[in-house]
Amino acid sequence: MTHPSSPSPSEHHPALAAEDPELAALIGAEERLQAGTLRLIPSENYVSAAVLEASGTVLQNKYSEGYPGRRYYEGQQNIDPVERLAVARAKAVFGVEHANVQPYSGSPANLAVYLAFAEPGDTVMGMALPMGGHLTHGWGVSATGKWFRGVQYGVRQDTGLVDLDEVRDLALKERPKLIFCGGTALPRTIDFAAFAEIAHEAGAVLVADIAHIAGLIAGGAHPSPVPHADVISTTTHKTLRGPRGAMLMAREEHAKAIDKAVFPGLQGGPHNQTTAAIAVALHEASRPSFRDYAHAVVANAKALADALLARGFDLVSGGTDNHLILMDLTPKDVPGKVAAKALDRAGIVVNYNTVPFDPRKPFDPSGVRIGTPSLTSRGLGAEHMATVADWIDRGVAAARAEDEDALTKIRAEVADLMSAHPAPGLPTD
Ligand SMILES: *Cc1c(COP(=O)(O)O)cnc(C)c1O
Repeated sequence: MTHPSSPSPSEHHPALAAEDPELAALIGAEERLQAGTLRLIPSENYVSAAVLEASGTVLQNKYSEGYPGRRYYEGQQNIDPVERLAVARAKAVFGVEHANVQPYSGSPANLAVYLAFAEPGDTVMGMALPMGGHLTHGWGVSATGKWFRGVQYGVRQDTGLVDLDEVRDLALKERPKLIFCGGTALPRTIDFAAFAEIAHEAGAVLVADIAHIAGLIAGGAHPSPVPHADVISTTTHKTLRGPRGAMLMAREEHAKAIDKAVFPGLQGGPHNQTTAAIAVALHEASRPSFRDYAHAVVANAKALADALLARGFDLVSGGTDNHLILMDLTPKDVPGKVAAKALDRAGIVVNYNTVPFDPRKPFDPSGVRIGTPSLTSRGLGAEHMATVADWIDRGVAAARAEDEDALTKIRAEVADLMSAHPAPGLPTD
């Protein structure tokens, strides 16, 4: 891909270009890559220029162990109001009584939940990783599966959906301290009320991990876990379109346990520049235009799913209710990894992924996972989804036929459409 008119990185990051040209060049190349490719990884997004600016400020120079009004360092005149603003906005956007905005990312946020409500060796329950769950929901290779006894539920082979009767039976048999709902490859709505009933029956704390769908919930495009879940864990950088970070939310009764677990239980000083950027993202998420965004993400995913089904693709659960689509490429006779790498050469960035009951290995699985948060942030609409499905179809066919010319041709078409829809936060010229 050539961008003859792209300015050099020195124009965007002059101090960095002067101090460290090698690094500045890499950042410039990444800016051009993000601008010129179709990014379909469902956990990624483009943050606004305002969020980017907030996360690159001198707030990062400040140490603030503790919480607003109760810090272990002086000089918090500006940091305390920044964190209070982020907390107040989180409470307003999600309608919760308590919010902690300090977790460094989604995984440490979840670890803090274990620390708050369980003891090492306790039984915890979550969705199995190969079924669409997250590592931190008690999967074996994760600290959460090593230090706790993880029991795992999945989806039904015939429907691709969580079987809530199976979840109830397992919960009543195993009596876990924590039950996690939510995951990383779930194309369908989560029934928080049903999970809450099961957790209540089993005497477990229900943790709704909304890392992927927080923006959809904030924008009213997915049901909220409030008031059903005891604890809500989320990243801030996926559909919520904020900086890399996380939040824990809960009713007031759990506020102390959660705050103590995050600090001093697990972390030291909060990343204040991230806290500020979270506050900006939440401000953006409270606007009517963000509701439009969240609904457009879902409408685009549904349109893309329909267009893929029409081209003979096999989608886990038969489609999507949210931002995410999980394709099983077995009928296309191409392994997920081969397809993902070919699509990357075609300027379409996806990730290979296991599908439920995958006969192949996790490092070489049958599926590809895609999503619409990033392309929707660029202003692509349902009318573009047939084109996107066509590129994917041609890309997968080219992967099977090992046709590099076809991939190169797609790449040029992708770059053309992307240049007509500049991404937020990226240099436009
Ligand atoms: C992304 C994700 C996480 C972890 O977030 P990191 O910031 O990558 O640590 C946790 N849970 C779920 C469901 C996720 O999708």
